[in-house]
Amino acid sequence: MARRKKIYEGKAKILYDGPEPGTLVQYFKDDATAFNAQKRDVIEGKGVLNNLLSEYFMTGLNTVGIPTHFIKRLNMREQLIRAVEIIPLEVIVRNYAAGSIVTRLGLEEGTPLPRPIVEFSYKDDALGDPLVPEEYIIAFGWASQQDLDDMISLALRVNDSMSGTMMAVGIRLVDFKIEIGRVWDNEYQRLVIADEISPDSCRLWDLETDRKLDKDVFRRDLGDLVDAYAEVARRLGVMPTNAPPITKPTLIN
Ligand code: C5P
Repeated sequence: MARRKKIYEGKAKILYDGPEPGTLVQYFKDDATAFNAQKRDVIEGKGVLNNLLSEYFMTGLNTVGIPTHFIKRLNMREQLIRAVEIIPLEVIVRNYAAGSIVTRLGLEEGTPLPRPIVEFSYKDDALGDPLVPEEYIIAFGWASQQDLDDMISLALRVNDSMSGTMMAVGIRLVDFKIEIGRVWDNEYQRLVIADEISPDSCRLWDLETDRKLDKDVFRRDLGDLVDAYAEVARRLGVMPTNAPPITKPTLIN
């Protein structure tokens, strides 16, 4: 059998050529990185959980009419997606103060923000994905004014939809990052949500206890990352409650 062609390998995922033109296979690795890859580890089971959770979130968005690149899940580690032209920006939406906004503005972690705040970072690992104003985005041609307006509107729709979904299972959507891509229908461009949506790219806190159920568990050494992600999956009904733990098979003598 011919070996499939690797298109791109990132920190947490690999993209392979898909079975049809215009499609790709997205493979979720177990690698975890933080602080621009200065902290790294391999966490067995993380890729499987992120594949299932990203499928859940992307399918939910598609259902409410928010277009995404997701086509279908292929197996426990891979999903079929539409090939898109990624806009080189990370679109971040914040509902409560956490992470970099706390450091930047000296806010207390957990403070509710006056309204959801949308911000953009320029995707460049060597520069540490710097926060950029809209003026830079237009001036450097990373996106047009129309794209920007559409990205903000998409990001806020994702926020509304996902905040509700998470609230229903007792989880606060503190903030999240999405990536957006262009797809072309002849000369017409459409923007769709791309990459992944998972506890790697969101901050998720238990509503009652503020327990962190996201990548901050890894960033800040708060406990077992797979336990936290599995808790999110369990509450959303993505993982059957009696499923065996997602680890390597153990030989029983
Ligand atoms: O670090 P910061 O507070 O700016 O992150 C905001 C949100 O964006 C968090 O949910 C974080 O997990 C996510 N993020 C991400 N990838 C990055 C930077 C931030 O998924 N490169």
